Amino acid sequence: SQIMSRGLPKQKPIEGVKQVIVVASGKGGVGKSTTAVNLALALAANDSSKAVGLLDVDVYGPSIPKMMNLKGNPELSQSNLMRPLLNYGIACMSMGFLVEETAPLVWRGLMVMSAIEKLLRQVDWGQLDYLVVDMPPGTGDVQLSVSQNIPISGAVIVSTPQDIALMDAHKGAEMFRKVHVPVLGLVQNMSVFQCPKCKHKTHIFGADGARRLARTLDLDILGDIPLHLNIREASDTGQPIVFSQPESDEILLWCQDFEFQ
Ligand code: ADP
Repeated sequence: SQIMSRGLPKQKPIEGVKQVIVVASGKGGVGKSTTAVNLALALAANDSSKAVGLLDVDVYGPSIPKMMNLKGNPELSQSNLMRPLLNYGIACMSMGFLVEETAPLVWRGLMVMSAIEKLLRQVDWGQLDYLVVDMPPGTGDVQLSVSQNIPISGAVIVSTPQDIALMDAHKGAEMFRKVHVPVLGLVQNMSVFQCPKCKHKTHIFGADGARRLARTLDLDILGDIPLHLNIREASDTGQPIVFSQPESDEILLWCQDFEFQ
C-alpha cells in the first residue's frame, strides 16, 4: 500500500504463484540464464515438496528452451491460458515456445510489451512455490515493466568479475532498489578457470570484481562460479549441471538455500 501511495502501478500477483525470484544481469553473456535454470533446479532439488516454475522473459534471446531441452507449442487450457512445458520437474514458459527458433525477433517495442503481458498473465502455472524469471540483460522497459507489474520476492544479479559487466550490474541493482524490489545478492560467474591438465588457475575476467561491488552496495555474494567446460556443455546439451552432475563442485552455489522474507 505504501508503494501504491507513491504512485507506482498496481502490482497484481501471478495466479497460483507464491514467490517470484528474478534473475537479472547488466550485460548479456555473463551466465544469467544458466543461473536461472540451475537455481530453479536447485530450489526443486533442495525440497521435493516445492513446485518450481521457470519463466523466460528474455524475449530477444530466449535460451530456456535449449537449456531445458524443450520445444513445441504450449497447449491452451479450458480458460484459454497457455500450459507450461515440463522437464526435470520444472514448469517452463518461454517466448521461444511461441515463435520459430530461427525467426528474427526484430519487433517493435509494442509487440515486445504485448508478448511480456502474455507471458506474465496468460500462463496456467497451477500452484507454484517459486517462479524463477529469466530477465533480459540490462535495465530497459521490459525489466521495469516486470518489476512494476508483479510482486517480486527478490532479485539475483549475475555478473562476471569484469569491470564493464560490473558497471552494468551496479545499474541493475540501483534499478531494483528504485522500484522497491529487494536485491537478494550477487552471483559472481566465470571468476576462475582451472586448467584441467596442469591445474593452474587463471582469472580470465578478473578475480574479485563482484565481491568489491557487493561491498560497495552492501549486498551479499550468493556464490562464486568458475568458468568450467562441464557447465557450458551441460547447458548446450539441455541437461543443466544441477540436474546432470548434482555432486559436482561447480554447482555449490546453485544448491544453497535462498531465504525470503
Ligand atoms: P546470459 O543469460 O547472461 O546471456 P548464458 O547463461 O546464456 O548468459 O551464458 C552464456 C554462455 O556461457 C552459455 O553458452 C553458457 O553455457 C556459458 N556459461 C555460463 N556460465 C558458465 C560457466 N560458469 N562456465 C562455462 N560456461 C558458462
